Amino acid sequence: MNIPFVSFLPMERELENSIRASFERVFESSRYIGGSEDRSFEIAFADYCGSKFCIGVGNGLDALMLSLKALGIKEGDEVIVPSDTYIATALAVTYVGAKPVFVEPDIRTFNIDPDRIEAAITENTKAVMPVHLYGQPCDMDPIMATAEKYGLYVVEDCAQAHGASYKGRKVGTFGIAAGFSFYPGKNLGALGDAGAVVTDDADLADKIRALGNYGSDYKYHHIYKGNNSRLDELQAAFLSAKLPHLDRMNRERQRIARVYTESIINPKIIKPYVPEGCGPVWHIYAIRCAERDALERYLNEKGIGTNKHYPIPMHLQECYKDLNIPKGSLPVAEEISSTELSIPMYYGMTDDETEYVIDAINRF
Ligand SMILES: *Cc1c(COP(=O)(O)O)cnc(C)c1O
Repeated sequence: MNIPFVSFLPMERELENSIRASFERVFESSRYIGGSEDRSFEIAFADYCGSKFCIGVGNGLDALMLSLKALGIKEGDEVIVPSDTYIATALAVTYVGAKPVFVEPDIRTFNIDPDRIEAAITENTKAVMPVHLYGQPCDMDPIMATAEKYGLYVVEDCAQAHGASYKGRKVGTFGIAAGFSFYPGKNLGALGDAGAVVTDDADLADKIRALGNYGSDYKYHHIYKGNNSRLDELQAAFLSAKLPHLDRMNRERQRIARVYTESIINPKIIKPYVPEGCGPVWHIYAIRCAERDALERYLNEKGIGTNKHYPIPMHLQECYKDLNIPKGSLPVAEEISSTELSIPMYYGMTDDETEYVIDAINRF
């Protein structure tokens, strides 16, 4: 049997007609940037998240970067980010000229450890960026309490967590702003690059929108030195076709995760841990294993696709040599990078396929 790490085919087959109709609608309108598709998706996505405003942008990295820029974060400032995340979180910080300060995760949840945040705060700290990694919500109550105590902004990285909830409330509604990615592989994916910011702050929303549109508040009037990062009409139309199905598709991921968690019984495997009150959406199902690389080879030989999230922690990446954080100084992130393995997880995986994966893992 051949089981890819991820497949869009089942979802695409199911939604093919509405995706093609979205294309036709935009094509007929001859309007490709700044039209009604962008606006109607923004309204629908803000409503979905339970936020007042949504600003469509070019991608998830821009969503985070423009949020930090709009908050006035700049050179000389520090922003706390988890030591274990996709590099985009840290790149958003360095793009605005600020310094990322890495805080270790709780190894059971893979998410930033709220108890370690306080020790990383200095007089230059301006913001905390919790990342709801793999679709699992961070422990937001203590994070918000610490941020409030020190007057820090919270900008959530929701790129992997569309629809995830913490104590009944959707992620993206806790901080002053939240960045989403609609990269094709994310739980809500476009047919290309796309992203969005959600916020309840009207002034911040206006500023982010202007920053992503050449710093312009109205045509040919520029108040900021902005960027070009807009959600195009085609991607917005595709996203509007998919959004009504997101919860159902997330529920299917939750079902597959439940089957994995119940049926993987090999003692060499550490399964993901979901704390009380967390409603994860399983962007990734991440297991840990001391013999990770051997397990990966073994599964690949059996036709099972896998991935590592992420094989090199950010502080050991070439681009962050200037931060001078030596190997060994962030042991939790390093441990995760050498033991984590992501197994197949996507909408439309059949029972035969999940059983095949489970059986292979249990025989390792
Ligand atoms: C995908 C991702 C991003 C970046 O999104 P893009 O749309 O690819 O720019 C940011 N943060 C995390 C955690 C991600 O997984």
